[in-house]
Amino acid sequence: MGMELEFWYDYGMPDDRHRLVRASLPEEERELRSRLAQLVTSYGFVRGALSVREKVCGRASCRCARGEKHVGVYLTARESSRLEQLYIPSDLVDTAREWIATQGEIRELLEELSKLQWAKLRRREV
Ligand SMILES: [Zn+2]
Repeated sequence: MGMELEFWYDYGMPDDRHRLVRASLPEEERELRSRLAQLVTSYGFVRGALSVREKVCGRASCRCARGEKHVGVYLTARESSRLEQLYIPSDLVDTAREWIATQGEIRELLEELSKLQWAKLRRREV
């Protein structure tokens, strides 16, 4: 015997959305929310990872034909089942790396905040 779960997604109720009163939030939650807001509003962020690809250009006279392959950095991310990739020129590699790190921080903050909301709902203290 198994429990049947029906998933109900509804993102379309802005008028009914319950607004939190910031002053009444626990200190920990306020801090997490502030850090999250700061990251989202002031910094770039992107989901993905950098990977290095070696390739051969096809010109017979090129050094890559003798084994010294061209190296390129790509931003890669899985989108449903497809792998998206984007060539990142060398002068943008540091920026891309920074944005990926910021995305990671944002995700961690969201995860921590989500745990707090799970706990609130569990205690029925919303
Ligand atoms: Zn080449």
